[in-house]
Amino acid sequence: MNGLIAQSSGAVFLTSAIICAGLFQAASGLWGKAIFSIIPAVSFCLFLISGLVLLMLAKERSDLQFLEVQRNLRQAETRFQQIVETAIEGILIFDEHYRVTFANDNMAVMLGYTVDDMLGRTYASFFPESHMDVYHYQESLRKRGEGSVYECCLLRKDGQPHWFLISAKPIFDEQGNFEGSFGMFTDINDRKEMVLLLEESNRRLTELSNQDSLTGVANRRCFDATLEHEYSRLRRSNSQLSIILLDIDHFKEYNDRYGHVRGDECLRQIGSVLACSINPSVDLAARYGGEEFACILPDTDIQAAVAIAEKIRQGIQDLRIEHEDSPVSQFVTASFGVTTVQYSTDISPADIVAMADKLLYKAKVSGRNTTEYGVIE
Ligand code: GH3
Ligand code: MG
Ligand code: MG
Repeated sequence: MNGLIAQSSGAVFLTSAIICAGLFQAASGLWGKAIFSIIPAVSFCLFLISGLVLLMLAKERSDLQFLEVQRNLRQAETRFQQIVETAIEGILIFDEHYRVTFANDNMAVMLGYTVDDMLGRTYASFFPESHMDVYHYQESLRKRGEGSVYECCLLRKDGQPHWFLISAKPIFDEQGNFEGSFGMFTDINDRKEMVLLLEESNRRLTELSNQDSLTGVANRRCFDATLEHEYSRLRRSNSQLSIILLDIDHFKEYNDRYGHVRGDECLRQIGSVLACSINPSVDLAARYGGEEFACILPDTDIQAAVAIAEKIRQGIQDLRIEHEDSPVSQFVTASFGVTTVQYSTDISPADIVAMADKLLYKAKVSGRNTTEYGVIE
């Protein structure tokens, strides 16, 4: 600023000197010569000297400023270099088309590339197909001017996925045009793999704790929890819930005649018939205990539930598991109790099971290999 003032003042003085010189030329006559020669001549000299001095000062000043800008730039560059070299993170800078314009050594090493390999590649080319939605979302954030911190998996040169925690910021030019973005990449692969492994083993553990080990269908614990959950869901809807309870006919005799191992195999096969007869995304097939099985059928009325029970009963018969000691049939059969309920504060999940059990007993006394049903009012 001071340089500018000195420069301007210098220019004004010089102009004044030139005007004085002009006046000196224009002067005529003795008095005129005297007045117009001494005063302008002195003024000319003064203006000329002051103007020159000020211009020299201004030049020196702007040279100094230029040097200072250069020094600051060098300092900033060194600082950036130090940050890049000290960072344990990977650093990537992208242009407006999301092509890599800068990568530090760490980033290249983490992804198995050289820095030169990475330059010019698009950010999208590091994303596995399954994570492209993350890429598109982050790209839109950046273009809207938003930074973010997100977890994502990138592909290494050898094709292996590698997890990063990414902190990214957009870059805009002075006119506010999008110029690209800057990202810091923290390697979280080990932690992420551990978390994924833990999640998988937790999922498997939960699955196992809900599964009957002999037949593979849900166990009693899972049946009770699901019935509780589905019944409480009924409270918020006007829908119906049905359950099927079934018990293998004369299974004691089967075990006695064919042995426990064959008995177990029979239970496994019947479990498979159940699993195939329901819609696993909404219904549940479970081993209720011993040689008893059960199904929970949400949003199912009594007719639909009876149809499913009949399908299972037929399916068991179609297995054609020989049972020579059964007075009902030459093959293994089962009896069924089916009931349907709408939510009522007077009815508990245990009441629903008790009702199905009563109907199952009725099926037993009325000759077995049959289905009895009723709606709980
Ligand atoms: P009903 O037609 O009245 O149901 O007669 P049932 O013989 O089937 O009924 P009961 O309750 O008298 O006998 C059930 C049998 O189921 C006795 C038991 O040994 C057998 N059982 C229960 N759990 C298992 C199991 O896990 N494996 C085998 N192999 N048998 C089992
Ligand atoms: Mg029984
Ligand atoms: Mg039985």
